[in-house]
Amino acid sequence: MAELDFEGLWKEALIQLRTDLGEEEFSGWFTDLKYLRAGENSVVIGVPSAFHRDKVKARYQNAIKARLKEAAGRDISLEFELISGNKVENGLVQPVQPIPPVKTGQKKENPSSGTETGAEKPEKAKKGKHPQLRDDYIFDRFVIGENNSFAANAAIAISRNPGKAYNPFLVYGGVGLGKTHLMQAIGNYIYENSDNKVIYITSENFLNEFVQSIQDGKPHLFKNKFRYTDVLLIDDIQFFQEKERIQDELFFTFNALLDSKKQLVFTCDRPVTDLKKLSERLKSRFEMCLKVDLQPPRYEERCAILKSTVKSRNADIPDEIIDLVSKNISSNVRDLIAALKTLIDYTEIMGKPITLEIAQQRLRDTFNATRQANLSLESIIRVVSEYYSLTPNDLKGRKKSQNIVYPRQIAMYIAREMTDYSTTELGQDFGGRDHTTVMHSIEKIKGKLLTDPTLDSTIESLKRSIKEFNSK
Ligand code: ADP
Ligand code: MG
Repeated sequence: MAELDFEGLWKEALIQLRTDLGEEEFSGWFTDLKYLRAGENSVVIGVPSAFHRDKVKARYQNAIKARLKEAAGRDISLEFELISGNKVENGLVQPVQPIPPVKTGQKKENPSSGTETGAEKPEKAKKGKHPQLRDDYIFDRFVIGENNSFAANAAIAISRNPGKAYNPFLVYGGVGLGKTHLMQAIGNYIYENSDNKVIYITSENFLNEFVQSIQDGKPHLFKNKFRYTDVLLIDDIQFFQEKERIQDELFFTFNALLDSKKQLVFTCDRPVTDLKKLSERLKSRFEMCLKVDLQPPRYEERCAILKSTVKSRNADIPDEIIDLVSKNISSNVRDLIAALKTLIDYTEIMGKPITLEIAQQRLRDTFNATRQANLSLESIIRVVSEYYSLTPNDLKGRKKSQNIVYPRQIAMYIAREMTDYSTTELGQDFGGRDHTTVMHSIEKIKGKLLTDPTLDSTIESLKRSIKEFNSK
């Protein structure tokens, strides 16, 4: 068969583009395109307006051509023709598959966006919500206090000036402190206020998509997707440890984007220096980042976050209850908000305000769990050994290699802080060592805390993981 099936090629390209761009973006720009006919080595596509045509050309022409070429095995050109609204519907090819309705969420004003006028406005209405970003993870909902102001201000600067302000950028800190919220706020702002392409992805999904693209025999699709975006947000990079192939892929993606001055943002649950199982070259890339940490909120900040949540839920919670929750939950923002939500749910279900007494009663278990003093030593050893990619037996054993001795000292230090065990008791549990060894280890870490600026946050984050482990 000498001649190509141009219509089939177009359909094939659309299928690919839909995957590349995501449902929302795809349906924003491609549903209104119609295959008209084959030209001379080209496909002729109908567009509803000059505005639409220009936008598609500027944004997607290269991507469309690349997909066409892939499907055809040679270059195919693209021509656009204006079509006037409804007339073309009949007899012409409809989109490949029925396009599912745009997901609910905040659908923009302008319900009558069916007709393009060529003005700038309809574009925003068409765009809708970003497919991967939560619409409540915005700066307006992020309470800024001393614990996070540096990170928040840097994030705001980036959102106003992507690729230029601080690039690459890395936010780190323990679980539930607002890393994902802040990262997505950057994405939401840029997406709302510019034509920049924004991708948000967890490290786990980044790996999954990579594996899938290889299984499908189309690794180039993966590369294209991530190397030709304006903003790439990758959440929880600690996940990449010990996964070598994806580390390589990320390394190349990183370089490609940075070379073309595209914005990169990462989050991590620990300082980069603690990512032991990462290739040196990838680590050196993360080291290039502006690194900012999020600290747990203090009392005043906890109150402010709770008040802001109450306001956004339109709830009625008296200050004395805000005070109660703030005083009792200090671990992280997620737990804090979760506790408050239990109370808000209560008022909504009961249809009446909540009293201090009922609040105390309802949260008793939560408060107890966070105060839990009876941590098992086993859980400390588990969490610390896992963090340093060792086994519990390594920490409890006799081995003296440096990569074990240091984590063991940290575990002893944390155990001394978090439990009521004496140094003698700890010595017994750590492989039958005597109490002077335990004391010596603890002193070592105390000394190191004075000289190593990241150790404090490592230990805090370990403690949080241990608490979490115990509350499961
Ligand atoms: P992380 O990614 O660090 O584990 P998240 O970003 O998922 O944490 O935050 C946990 C929860 O706390 C989310 O609901 C988030 O909206 C909320 N949160 C965190 N920090 C703040 C803040 N400063 N102001 C308001 N909400 C916050
Ligand atoms: Mg997160």
